[in-house]
Amino acid sequence: MTRLVVDLNRCQGYAQCAFLAPDVFTMHGEESLVYSPHADEEQRERVARAVAACPVQAITADGLDGAVGGTSDGAR
Ligand code: SF4
Repeated sequence: MTRLVVDLNRCQGYAQCAFLAPDVFTMHGEESLVYSPHADEEQRERVARAVAACPVQAITADGLDGAVGGTSDGAR
């Protein structure tokens, strides 16, 4: 189980996450994002991609170790 949090103050509604992990992130209207705070194991890699793709790094998730090769924390 992957726990995730989206900082909705930071989120700009770019919908990259909804595009990459549609089962976890859904756009409601233009800018409001709805997400499920717990993602299934099988969603882990998609969640990791969404985390990496978010232009404003609004998504924080744990339990992603090894989900995507070469993830680094040095990007901020
Ligand atoms: S990718 Fe980031 S900014 Fe875009 S909707 Fe998702 S959380 Fe928000």
